[in-house]
Amino acid sequence: MSRRQAPSLNSIAVVILFTPFVLTPAAAANWTVHAQPTKLVNGAPVFFQVKSPARLRSLSGSWLGHKVPFSFDAKSKTWYALAGVSLETAPGSYSLELAGETPDGNGGVKNLSLTRKFSVARGKYPKIAVKLSVEGKFTEPSPEQQKEIAEGVQVKKDYLSRVTPEREWSGPFTAPADAAISDVFGSERVFNGRTSSPHLGLDFRVPSGTPVAAMNDGTVLLARPLYFEGNFVVLDHGQGLLTLYLHLSEFKVKEGDQVKRGQEIGLSGGTGRATGPHLHVAVRWQGTYLDPAQLMRLRLP
Ligand SMILES: [Zn+2]
Repeated sequence: MSRRQAPSLNSIAVVILFTPFVLTPAAAANWTVHAQPTKLVNGAPVFFQVKSPARLRSLSGSWLGHKVPFSFDAKSKTWYALAGVSLETAPGSYSLELAGETPDGNGGVKNLSLTRKFSVARGKYPKIAVKLSVEGKFTEPSPEQQKEIAEGVQVKKDYLSRVTPEREWSGPFTAPADAAISDVFGSERVFNGRTSSPHLGLDFRVPSGTPVAAMNDGTVLLARPLYFEGNFVVLDHGQGLLTLYLHLSEFKVKEGDQVKRGQEIGLSGGTGRATGPHLHVAVRWQGTYLDPAQLMRLRLP
């Protein structure tokens, strides 16, 4: 008999241990899996809430190629996760694959798995070309400037795709400034006649020196100047969600600080690539930009 026809006992045991228990349709019906907003679009954040009839020790999800860490809220007996749909995601139906661990009654654990489908529609983002003139150094940088740009690219590569699985955010995300919106997420811009990528943040019309508030509880991941971003603050809210604050005139926090929602983290300004003082805020989830306005509309516990 060849080895191929006779798998060793060890490999059989491994197969049994790692095959999750897939719920029957009747058992799966006892689970509630909600997504907010009810209509998902590309570029939007999504809040998943899962309730299972069995007590779970852990729950994780897989969504659009990302691992989604869930946190348990003991009061509501609900598992929560913040996730998102990238701007590049095509309209269609996508699966949230859930994997949970429950005690098996013999001191071990039993793996449960469940799949729910959600449809993603095309988001409506304004496609208005904005004619802006910025200083030549931003469109035709010198070798010294190219070096600074490369350093900024490396810092962003090192920090902006980080995932802290634990949830630090609590309650809704709130506006970083009480001011009018001057440019929305997803709009297209033209710099000195050249079309740039879509606007991946939300702009607030504020004069220089306006206090900028943390959108939620979190930890200061970055507080340093970068070439394009100017004085740049990034907060890590856990579950892979970051908020970014650009062009500040002054820092009020340092890297590693814990902040609360509404806490002053800096003063607005026009540093970096900015035509004038304003506040650009952005939201990152696991390496992809999401619409801050849609994040602020979520009703979060
Ligand atoms: Zn902006």
